[in-house]
Amino acid sequence: MEAIPYGRQNITDEDIQAVAETLKSDYLTQGPRIAEFEEAFADYVGSKYAVAVSNGTAALHLCTLALNVLEGDKVITTPITFAASANCVRYCGGEVIFADIDPDTYLLDIDKVQELLEASPQGTYKGMIPVDFAGRAVDLEAFRKLADDYDLWIIEDSCHAPGGYFIDSNGKQQNCGNGQFADLAIFSFHPVKHIASGEGGMITTSNKVLYEKLLKLRTHGITKFESEYKNSVEFAVGSTQNSKLSDESGLRKARRNTQKYPAWYMEMQELGYNYRITDFQCALGQSQLKRADEGIEIRREIAELYFNAFKGKSFVKGQSGVVEGHAYHLYVIEVEDRLGLYNYLRENNIYAQIHYIPCHLMPYYRQFGWKEEDMLNAENYYKHCISLPIYPTLTKEQQDFVIKKINEYYE
Ligand SMILES: *Cc1c(COP(=O)(O)O)cnc(C)c1O
Repeated sequence: MEAIPYGRQNITDEDIQAVAETLKSDYLTQGPRIAEFEEAFADYVGSKYAVAVSNGTAALHLCTLALNVLEGDKVITTPITFAASANCVRYCGGEVIFADIDPDTYLLDIDKVQELLEASPQGTYKGMIPVDFAGRAVDLEAFRKLADDYDLWIIEDSCHAPGGYFIDSNGKQQNCGNGQFADLAIFSFHPVKHIASGEGGMITTSNKVLYEKLLKLRTHGITKFESEYKNSVEFAVGSTQNSKLSDESGLRKARRNTQKYPAWYMEMQELGYNYRITDFQCALGQSQLKRADEGIEIRREIAELYFNAFKGKSFVKGQSGVVEGHAYHLYVIEVEDRLGLYNYLRENNIYAQIHYIPCHLMPYYRQFGWKEEDMLNAENYYKHCISLPIYPTLTKEQQDFVIKKINEYYE
């Protein structure tokens, strides 16, 4: 039997065709495929804007830059996430404050966040980064209310949940990353995630100011929009008179002038990065996006089968039922003797995985004073959690084999 990983990509002939066509086109990068993918993705999640970048971590970093996280700024996130959700705060010199998870949903516990906020003077915290862990959508309506009370921004880490949603208090479906409640949301197109582009990421938002900032920061802080230029036309064309930075009246004079900024001209206005994605990656991402809903449908069926197979089993401590709007990036159960099961499955070529080792107990974060028993729910969850194989090309036979081996281990 071939190895069964916990997640894997699905590349079709159509995907290969899309990439091959792009490779033969005029643009490998900075071409038309990027905006096309952005538009299609924004449309998929229901946001006004989308910015494609080189990976999910770069997306997070651009978000903290765009929100102007500074040295010492305190930002709240969950310990049960991939380290990048927290690291993006550190990239800007900010301080990561972990708040515990809800033991039933495994998501950042809003009550714990509220306790933190209430215990400190207004203005102590700058923002929060809830994570749609495993594909389960955070109730961002509730988080937004709390964030507004304390003047915080929200970055939704939606790497696990493109296509996921929650139902708001008006009974309306709110898609992950739709920009209704969070200021910014981010996605990853790493091959284990729903949509694969090799490496790749996306930021979605409905905030125009942030959107324009992100576009600039993605490519060295450079703008090619004439309306944003700060230097004078005279300077730009290389005229010997008035090559100083223009003041406001100089700018206005230049606009009235018939002389235009030359086509080569551009300005680096902020310290940005090269976090661009290539056109062929976007071609792959866009081709994959067409099958995204189909993929979630299959993931849901797999989740349902696991749920029914393990319902009432004594070795299972916790598993959520099939939840509406859950994108099922992961299917997590909590079990007794997790190490034994993990090893037994590996012996049988089944590569289950652990998501996640609590982030606050990584040696890097321990140096800031985080220690065991700081986050009891997260730590207890970590002792038992195991993510079972779930991906669209997992066959019924393979899943039956996984279920059989798990039952066999506990018999
Ligand atoms: C995958 C992932 C990231 C990082 O994405 P990359 O594309 O691998 O950089 C961030 N947060 C979460 C929750 C993830 O699962």
